[in-house]
Amino acid sequence: MTEVAETPLPGPVLLYRRSSVGRRDEWVFVGKLALLAVLSTCGGRLALSDHPLAVVAGIVLLGAMFTHAVELQHQCLHHAAFRGARLHRIVGVPLGLPLLVVYSHYRIRHLQHHRALGTPGDTEFFGFDTRAPITPGVLLRGTFDYRRIADVLGDCVRSASGRWRYAFGSIAPRMHRRIVAEHVGLGLLVLAAVALAAGGHADIVARLWLLPLLLVAVPLHFLVELPEHVLCDNDTTDVLRNTRSITGGWFSTWYTNGNNLHIEHHAAMNVPLHRLRERHPEVQRYGAFVQRGYADFFRAVLAEARRNAALAARERRDAAVPVKTRSEPGVPAEVRSDSEVPAGSASPVA
Ligand SMILES: [Zn+2]
Ligand SMILES: [Zn+2]
Repeated sequence: MTEVAETPLPGPVLLYRRSSVGRRDEWVFVGKLALLAVLSTCGGRLALSDHPLAVVAGIVLLGAMFTHAVELQHQCLHHAAFRGARLHRIVGVPLGLPLLVVYSHYRIRHLQHHRALGTPGDTEFFGFDTRAPITPGVLLRGTFDYRRIADVLGDCVRSASGRWRYAFGSIAPRMHRRIVAEHVGLGLLVLAAVALAAGGHADIVARLWLLPLLLVAVPLHFLVELPEHVLCDNDTTDVLRNTRSITGGWFSTWYTNGNNLHIEHHAAMNVPLHRLRERHPEVQRYGAFVQRGYADFFRAVLAEARRNAALAARERRDAAVPVKTRSEPGVPAEVRSDSEVPAGSASPVA
């Protein structure tokens, strides 16, 4: 009998290769900014029109663009959009304003996330704990996470009064100054919106900012970010196991600005995001969590949430029902609360 030697898989070749921004990459990014500007203008005009259906469509389009802008901001914070470094902050700061995402704060937390992924030092900027079990309540709270907005407004007040401090380690004084200045700028814009509303233009503020923000952008942003690391192997630093990629199509790849190809992004974060697609075949071959489309992913998440909810309900039921012990001769059957039979020993639902 002849033994067949196992040939080890060669492993990814292109996936971890670093790359820099070229002239063509810059133009692709400028094209994305132009499209964002055109669609936002259309959204704004519709939102201000007289026809109720057009108003709804405008609010939805504007909110969708607020979220898309933060995905473009993500490329800026990695300095993967322009050849020179300076432009990234100049463009990145305004991109986050509608959704109240402060560029330099996001940048420092997000780069920490890239460095510490798979370790307890991971800092999730948008406040969703990917290690906690998924339940319907967790999903609902994440989808309508208005607490983050309150936190940002609190940071604006703390920055203006000189009390803002970075909560996740020490940062350079220059970075501290930048974050404070950007919070103060955002706070002034919020005050301007309040003044506009108080001056008789509440309708405009609601249609162009508040309603798109609260009803569309906040939930949509959560749905865009959710697939990145949830239900992956969070205790390893191997990006092929702790991150998820979604193959998707041209629309989801454009709208999320390549956030669907998150394994490829974590493997080499300085690669311009529109060039991640060429690395996807390797991820399909070696990645542990790769899904075809967003629909597949959300179906799996909802199934997991239902499973966890059923398990929790069964555990609560088992804990509430006292365990009956067998009657001994002459001894009436009794209900013992100190039974050694473990309550809530439900087997996991497959
Ligand atoms: Zn990530
Ligand atoms: Zn990133």
